[in-house]
Amino acid sequence: MNGKNPKIPLILDIKGNSLDDGPGIRSVVFFKGCPLSCVWCHNPESKKPGPEISFDKTECVDCGTCVEICPENALDRSNAFFIDREKCTLCGLCIENCPSGALSMVGRVMSPEEIVRAVIKDKPFFINSGGGVTLSGGEPTLYMDFLSALLQKLKSEGIHTLLETCGLFEWASFEKKVLPYIDTIYYDIKILDPDTHQKFCGAKNHRILENFTRLHRLLPDTGVDLLARTPLIPDITATEKNLTAIADFLSNQGITRARLLAYNPLWHEKNEKIGTPDTFKNNKKMHEWIAGEKIETFHAIFRKRGITTG
Ligand code: SF4
Ligand code: SF4
Repeated sequence: MNGKNPKIPLILDIKGNSLDDGPGIRSVVFFKGCPLSCVWCHNPESKKPGPEISFDKTECVDCGTCVEICPENALDRSNAFFIDREKCTLCGLCIENCPSGALSMVGRVMSPEEIVRAVIKDKPFFINSGGGVTLSGGEPTLYMDFLSALLQKLKSEGIHTLLETCGLFEWASFEKKVLPYIDTIYYDIKILDPDTHQKFCGAKNHRILENFTRLHRLLPDTGVDLLARTPLIPDITATEKNLTAIADFLSNQGITRARLLAYNPLWHEKNEKIGTPDTFKNNKKMHEWIAGEKIETFHAIFRKRGITTG
């Protein structure tokens, strides 16, 4: 969605030299827009498909230029988030005139060709390290035709492709337009109970689980490397009940490899920058890292069912 066409995504960022988003050295392309709305989202600026203005109070030198220049009177120190997003028309004047870079626009239009041009300079690193390009978000499959065009261009350059997905996509379109051009899929299975999934992620999970099972069944034909991942979120996903249900779901399909993602409490600050109230502000557990011994018990649930999570 570029603000006009819902089939064209905005790109949040392209991060080079990543060692955490798949094998080898990778460039990660972040799409903006997601069909889920997980309360703990680590990239909250990726949830909405349209452009947003971001305010980093740690960069602001309080010069007052933006307040004076805003034609909509949308900026006010008495507002907890500084910007009144109902009034703001995203004209960009304040961003252009801010001397410190405290204000920025989140999301920009890029064509598949421009994205390939941005990542191709790192191709020698991809090849030497067994790396490639990771498509993340947000949810790239929201933009199936754009994603397909980008993947085809990457594959024609001989670049390894990895998709990070929440799994909430339309199967027929995915199978035809995306699957043929993907080498690896990191597939998030966050919560197994549909009602709990709806409560914390904003939608039921039936289609997510169905799509995963379909993908897994097709593996012998596609050769795609499929890895199920579960983020460990205190008292939400990281409960014995939920992790046992997920481990059972995977082991019933004969799956022997999955990944548990460590909790990172730093997402709270990102919410503030885009003016989203933090409903977990006073929840102590959501501001702490999970203790190592506790994490070990979570891994043991999967090991007990013959699933490695290293
Ligand atoms: S983008 Fe324009 S309308 Fe929005 S706060 Fe800045 S100057 Fe005001
Ligand atoms: S122009 Fe930038 S530095 Fe000055 S008050 Fe506004 S956000 Fe802060």
